[in-house]
Order: sequence, then C-alpha cells, then structure tokens
Amino acid sequence: MSLAEQLDTVTGAAAGTVDRHATTETFESTAPASGAVVGVFPVHDEAAVGETVTRARAAAERWAALGFDGRKQRLSAYRGYLARRMHELADLVHRENGKPHADAILEITLAVDHLAWAAGHARKTLGPRRVSPGLLAANHAAYLEYQPLGVVGVIGPWNYPVFTPMGSIAYALAAGNAVVFKPSEHTPAVGAWLAAAWRAAVPDSADAFQVVTGYGATGAALCRVPVDKLAFTGSAATGKKVMAACAETLTPVLMELGGKDAMIVDDDADVAAAADAAVWGAMSNGGQTCIGIERVYATEAVYDRFVDAVTTQVRSLRPGADGEATYGPMTMSSQIEVVRRHVADAEAAGARVVTGGTDADAFPAEGYVAPTVLLDVPETSAAVQEETFGPTLTITRVRDAEEALQRANATSYGLAGAVFSASKDKAMDLARRMHSGMTSINSVLTFASVPALPFGGVGDSGFGRIHGEDGLKEFTRAKAITRQRVPLPVNLMSFGRPANAADALARVMGMVHGRHR
Ligand code: NAD
Repeated sequence: MSLAEQLDTVTGAAAGTVDRHATTETFESTAPASGAVVGVFPVHDEAAVGETVTRARAAAERWAALGFDGRKQRLSAYRGYLARRMHELADLVHRENGKPHADAILEITLAVDHLAWAAGHARKTLGPRRVSPGLLAANHAAYLEYQPLGVVGVIGPWNYPVFTPMGSIAYALAAGNAVVFKPSEHTPAVGAWLAAAWRAAVPDSADAFQVVTGYGATGAALCRVPVDKLAFTGSAATGKKVMAACAETLTPVLMELGGKDAMIVDDDADVAAAADAAVWGAMSNGGQTCIGIERVYATEAVYDRFVDAVTTQVRSLRPGADGEATYGPMTMSSQIEVVRRHVADAEAAGARVVTGGTDADAFPAEGYVAPTVLLDVPETSAAVQEETFGPTLTITRVRDAEEALQRANATSYGLAGAVFSASKDKAMDLARRMHSGMTSINSVLTFASVPALPFGGVGDSGFGRIHGEDGLKEFTRAKAITRQRVPLPVNLMSFGRPANAADALARVMGMVHGRHR
C-alpha cells in the first residue's frame, strides 16, 4: 500500500503512522488515562516540513482558483464528513486527550459550526467590492478585496485538539489558503485523523490541508521553511520562541496564548447560576481550558452564598476515565506539578482550602487532580497571577464590582472573562472595561460558540483574531485597486500640471476643511 493510501485509511481505531516522507524517527502518543499507546507518528524534520509546504504551495494555487463557491462546496463536504463521524472522532479525542466522550462531542460540534460559518461567510467578507473613491479621486473607481496569503502554518495545543486548531484551519481554508498543521505532540492522532478525513472528503484538493507531526522543532521548521503566515496557539513562553523564529524569515504571526480569566459576581447576580457557571468554567476539561475561569471576585453581598453554592457543586464532581466521570486526567503529566506548586504556594501564603489541596488524595498517582477551591489567596500568589491550567478556582471577597474589575484586570494576561449581574447596563459597562478580548455576561465561554464573534486576547494572551469576519481577514492580505474612469482636465500628479494648480487645490481645501476648528 502506498504511503498516500495509508494516509487515506487512517481510522480513529488505529490512528496509525501517517507519513509520506523518508522520516525514520518516530514518537508514541499515549492515552493519559491508561498509558496505552494510541498511535506512532513520525518526527518530521525540516526537510520533511519543507516538502510538505512545497506540495501545499502547489495545492494553494489550485485551491484559491476554485473561488468562494468551489471552496464552500468542499468545506461543506468536510463538515459533513466530520458530522457523520462525530462519535469516532470523539472516541479518539477521549482516548488521546482524556476528556469525557460527551465533552469531545461538544468540542467537535463547535468546530463543525465554525467550518459552516467560515465557508458561508467568506465571499461576503473577503470578496471584491467597490468603495467610495473620495473627493480627490472622484474620477476613479476604487476596489477592495482580500486575497489569500498562500500557505498558512498552524501550530496547535492539546487541550481542545479539534476545536482550537479548527479556528485557524477552517478560516484559513475558507479564505483560500492551503494549511499545514502541526498538532501538539500530545494529540498527534487527532491531528492526523483530521487531515485523513480531509483527504477522504475532499480528494481533489487533498494537499490543501496536510499534517506534519513531531515536537517543537517540527513547529519551528514551519517558521524557517517558511510559510506565508504562522497561526500559533499555545503558551506565552512558546509563543515568544515562535515569534523569534518567525522574525528570521519575516513570517507574520497570529498568537493565541494562555489566560488567567476572571469572573465578576456583582451584588444583584443570580448566585446559583454564577456558581454553576464558575464550576463548569473552572473544572470542565480538568481546568485545561485557555478561556477557563481561574479566579472569581465576588462582592461582599454575595460572597458567602456564592462560596456555599460552589462548595456544594464541587463536592459532587469526580474525575475519572469512565463514562460517568465529570472530567478526565491531566493530559500532560508535567502540568500536575504546576498545579501542585500553585496550590502549595497559596496554602503557604495563608489561603483557605475548601476542597482539594496538596495532599495525596488531591493528587492521586493516576494523573488526576481533585477539584480545588481556594479562598483568601493573596493577589501576588502564583495561583492568582500565573496560568494554573488545572481544576482550581480562587474566590476572593471584594467591596464592589469596581474593585472586582480592578483586580480582574491586574494580571499580564487578557484572554476572556465573565460578568454576572442583573443589570444589563452595568454588566455591559464592566464587560467593556474588562482587559480581555472576550467577555460573557451571565454565562461562561459563550463567545466561543458564536462563529460571528472574533476570538483572541490582549497582553500576554496574544494578538490577532480567529473566528468571525476578523478571523477570515486574518488569513488574507487586503488588495487595493483603482481604475481611472474619466481623465480630469487637470492632472495634479503630472509634471505637466499648470503652475497655479496647487494654489487652486489649496483654496478648495480651505473651503472644504478650513472651517473646522
Ligand atoms: P505549548 O506552548 O507547550 O505548545 C503548543 C505547540 O507549540 C505544540 O504543538 C508544540 O509542539 C509547539 N512548540 C513547542 N515549542 C515550539 C517551538 N520552539 N517552535 C514552534 N512550535 C513549538 O502549549 P500546550 O501545552 O500545547 O497548550 C497549552 C497552552 O495553550 C496554554 O497556555 C493554553 O492557555 C494555550 N491555549 C490558548 C488558546 C487560545 O486560543 N488563546 C487555546 C488553547 C490553548
């Protein structure tokens, strides 16, 4: 069987080795819950990445030439393929990432919805249009269009191995680019499955979406080859390295980085709803969510009731690998030490532990972390300032919503957040002033499920946007064209213009703009 055929037959059950290169070094992907091998994958070196990008360049030309309708048709075939095999893909996500099957279904649902939106809105957002030429060029027609960049490299994390990279992949493809995707070394099988599904669903444009696998060096090779844009999702520390590598080849970057998202619970909030949302926002996916809630600032009026409601809910959570478990193991075992350090540091600084903590029950050997709620954590602690990325929540009593906002804004991150309040105007005002790219009012994480809304952060949470019209434009270059419709009797941009033309222009400008003070 040829290597290309092998790629086409990759299934969820045996994610298998995917390779069309002479790469010999391989690595294993293992299930965090059991340690069982999920698949064996090549470590693609720079030459292999270069070959893949070369194939992608040829595919990009054909893919762009298909136009918006041709691409929409093929992206629809891909989304149909994914939707028909949701359980197969969810099972693979469950095994390789560890999250419950039902959460994987939710994640894939979001990705499919974004694929539909990106394909359906690309023409309207990016297609050619006429714009007003303005006063100075009134005799010209002015055109604007957003052209594809060519080949987009996508480097992804492991925590949402379908939804997160698809935020770049779907929008880059819909905008007319080919994509080379480097999934996390913790979830290569899911990445390979997504690319194999593409080849099966869209065989006439198979090389428009390819996968390379390996560690950080494989990702860095994408910057050096180079690609025409690099969309990175991962930690801020790695993001800096990726930017440095991309600077060498002047490759533009999109940075979707970590967060330390806060929830504000105001005096008049629905406390039960806020507690329910905080627990889901903090603990679902084992807290391994970039836009997860890690901190809550509750006003004095609601603090005690809020802590009670959270405590009751958290006690019913149970991490595990079975169908009834509320969340799975830590996907990346090294993250367990980060979580333990944050909790220990908070305890040492005088925090009260409501549930969880640092003892063996909270950190059993199997790689799970118990749901952990911490009260009165000093604002300078790692548990408040750094991304914990585990099933933990700090709850802090504040005087009022203004103090909550001030504290919420006092980290270097600025990805997302939430506000709970019964007052629409007050909540909107707090949301606007929250130092973040996204805020949900009276819910958590909702913005991620609205394809029309841009997704991305500020500060150490990165820059650039996926999703929505901004996400489509992110993977294009704006192209401006003017066309002279009729010549003017006097051409100001000619050495042949009359000597008094500049004076006449100055008089007109004086009449049009000079009255403004
Ligand atoms: P990570 O930074 O360790 O790795 C991300 C990816 O970068 C992986 O594919 C890795 O192989 C690759 N990589 C590592 N070194 C590289 C290098 N030198 N050059 C190029 N690529 C390199 O992140 P992770 O642990 O996989 O993911 C967790 C992080 O991702 C958290 O901080 C989380 O908040 C963040 N995240 C952000 C978003 C978002 O949209 N803002 C979404 C999901 C996750």
